[in-house]
Amino acid sequence: MAGRNKHVVSKTSSSLAIVEANPPQNKKVVAIDAPIVSSYNDRIRPLLDTVDRLRNLNVMREGIQLPTIVVVGDQSSGKSSVLESLAGISLPRGQGICTRVPLVMRLQRSYSTEPEIWLEYGDKVVHTDEEHIAQAICAATDVIAGSGKGVSDAPLTLHVKKAGVPDLTMVDLPGITRVPVNGQPENIYEQISAMIMKYITPQESIVLNVQSATVDFTTCESIRMSRQVDKTGQRTLAVVTKADMAPEGLLQKVTADDVSIGLGYVCVRNRIGEETYEEARMQEELLFKTHPMLRLIDDDIVGIPVLAQKLMLIQATMIARCLPEIVRKINEKMESSVLELNKLPMVMASTGEALMTLMDIIGSAKESLLRILIQGDFSEYPEDHKMHCTARLAEMLSQFSDTLQAQPKDVTTEFLMDEIKILDECKCVGLPNFIPRSAFLAILSQYVDGIHSKPVEFIKKIWEYIEAILIPVISKYAENFPQIQSSIKRAGRNLITKMKEQSVNRVAEIVEMEKLTDYTCNPDYMTSWTEKMFRSKASSTLFSLGGFGDVKISHLRKYHAHLLQQAFDMKMRIASYWNIVLRRIVDNLALFLQFSVKNLVNAQFQKEIVAEMVDPRGGGGVERMMEESPSVASKREKLKKSVKLLKESKDVVAAIVDQSSGYGGR
Ligand code: GDP
Ligand code: MG
Repeated sequence: MAGRNKHVVSKTSSSLAIVEANPPQNKKVVAIDAPIVSSYNDRIRPLLDTVDRLRNLNVMREGIQLPTIVVVGDQSSGKSSVLESLAGISLPRGQGICTRVPLVMRLQRSYSTEPEIWLEYGDKVVHTDEEHIAQAICAATDVIAGSGKGVSDAPLTLHVKKAGVPDLTMVDLPGITRVPVNGQPENIYEQISAMIMKYITPQESIVLNVQSATVDFTTCESIRMSRQVDKTGQRTLAVVTKADMAPEGLLQKVTADDVSIGLGYVCVRNRIGEETYEEARMQEELLFKTHPMLRLIDDDIVGIPVLAQKLMLIQATMIARCLPEIVRKINEKMESSVLELNKLPMVMASTGEALMTLMDIIGSAKESLLRILIQGDFSEYPEDHKMHCTARLAEMLSQFSDTLQAQPKDVTTEFLMDEIKILDECKCVGLPNFIPRSAFLAILSQYVDGIHSKPVEFIKKIWEYIEAILIPVISKYAENFPQIQSSIKRAGRNLITKMKEQSVNRVAEIVEMEKLTDYTCNPDYMTSWTEKMFRSKASSTLFSLGGFGDVKISHLRKYHAHLLQQAFDMKMRIASYWNIVLRRIVDNLALFLQFSVKNLVNAQFQKEIVAEMVDPRGGGGVERMMEESPSVASKREKLKKSVKLLKESKDVVAAIVDQSSGYGGR
C-alpha cells in the first residue's frame, strides 16, 4: 500500500501541475515523502477547516462560492456507491431513483473510535448511526422532496466524523434521467439538469464525473454537461466504476481520453452485495492486481484510496487557489452591506427633529424641481429624457398650437352656408347693406365652441405630465424615509389636483373671453382682410378665394345677391380674425403655463406639502418619521446579521492567511 501511495504523488500529473502553480505554502504538499495522510492533515487541515467553517457560517447565502466537489453522473452509474466507498458507510441505492435531493457529504477524519453521524436539513439536526444512515436519508429526502419520485434542490447535509475517512466535502446530485418513470414529473430531465448546472457552473466547483465502465463515455450525458461549463476539463475528474463488470478495453478507454478529462481518470470497484467495507477494498486491490486486463492499468489511477488522495489534493489546491478571491468577496460584501445599513432610514427622536428633516427633504425636492422645470438644468437626470422638462413642455405647447390651428372651423361643408344661416337668423327690420354685429359675434361664438375643449385638454395634459415629474422627485428625496413615502406622495398628488382645478377654470375663462368681444389691435387683421377681398375672383360655378383656393358656389344660386354679399364679407372678416384669435389663445396659454409652473415650484409646493404633512387629520406624516416600519426593521436585522456573519468569516479567513504565511519559512 505504501508503495502505491508514493506513486500517487509522483505521477498525478494534472493535479500536481495545479499545486505547483500555487504559492510556496503548497510546495510541501507536492514534495511529500512521509506517509501522505499525516503530512496532508498537518498542512491542509487548517485550510479545510476554514472552508468548512465558512460553509457552516453559510457564506454561500451571501453569494460567495466555496470550493466544492460535485458528484455527477448518469443514473445508476455508481455515484452513491463511490461516495459510500469513500466514507465507508451505506447509502440508499438501487436501480430506481434514490438520490432525489442534493446530498452534501462532509467527511471528517476523527481520532475517536466511535463514529459520529448526523443529518442536517432546513434547521433540523437528526443524529443517526452507521446501520441507520440509509433509512435516515430516505426519511429526510421524503420530508424535503415529498414521498413520491420528485426531486428538490433544497440540500441535505450528511456529516460523517469517523476514523480513516478522508477530509472531503462532496455533493451528491440526482442522476440524469431522460425518460420520466411512473409518478415523476414530465420535466424531470429539465429539473435535474438545471440543478446539476447550478452546482457545476461556479469556477470554484470540482466536477467528479462518475461513469460506469460498461458504457461508452462519448455518449454520456453528464460528460456532455460538465464539458459545457468546463471546456478544457481542468476542473473535471472522472471515476470509472464497475471495472469488475467490463474489464475489456478499460485500459484503452482511460488512456485514449476521448472526452478530455483534465484531472484524469480513476478506475474503481465498489462494494458489491453484502460485502463489508474492508472486504470490498481487499477485493478491489486484488482485482486490479490480478485481473489479466485490469492489471495493466497504471497503479496510480486505480482504487478508492487513490481516488481519496487525489480528491484531497485537488480540493486543497482549489481551496488555496480560491482563498484570495474569497477574502476579496467577503470584504466587498461586507463593505456594501455596511453601506446599505448606513443608508437605512433613520428614526427621528422628536417631532422637532422630524420637522426639520421634513423641511430638508422638501427644500431639496424644491431645488431639484426648480432646476428641471424652470432652469432647464438636467444634470441630475442626464439620461432620463422625461425629466428634461423645459424641452418636453415646449414640445407639448408647439404640438398644441399645431392641432389647434389645424382644427376645421366650419360647421357645414358647403361654402358660405354657415354665414348664410346665421345672417338669416340675425336679420331685422332695417337696411340690407348693414352686417349686423350680432351675426359676426354669433359666428365667432360658433368657431370658439368648435375649439373650446382643446385648451382645457392641453392644460390637463400638462398637469398630468408635471405630476409624473413631481412624484418621483419627492419620492427620491424622501427615499430614506419609507414610512412617509405614501403620505408625501399623496400630498404631492393633492397639490397637483388643486393646481389642475385652478388652471382648468382659468383656461376656460381665457377661451370664454374670446366669445365676448371681437377685438384686436393687431394690424394683421386689416392687412389680411384687404388681401382676401382683393384677391377673390368669381366665375359662374367656381370661386377663387384668397387663402381658400377654388370653391364650388353652384349651391348659392338660389340666394339673393345682397345676402351672398354680406355672407361673403363676413367670411373674409372671420377668416382674418380667427387666425388672430387662435394665436392669441396659444400665446395666453404659453404665458399662463410658465406662470403656473413657477407658482407651483416657488410658492405652492413647499406650503402645501408641509401643510399636508403636519396636518394631524391627514395621517400625520411627520409623526411617522419617528416610527420604524416592520419591513425596514427586518431589513436592518438582516443586514446586521449579514455584517456579523461576514465579519466572522473575515476573522476565520484572516486566521488561516496568518497561519499559511508561516508555511514558506518552515
Ligand atoms: P447512482 O444512481 O449513480 O447513485 O448509482 P448507485 O451507486 O446507486 O449504483 C447503481 C448500481 O450499480 C447498484 O446496484 C450498485 O451496487 C452497482 N454498482 C456500483 N458500483 C459498482 C461496481 O464497482 N461494481 C459492481 N459490480 N456494481 C456496482
Ligand atoms: Mg445515487
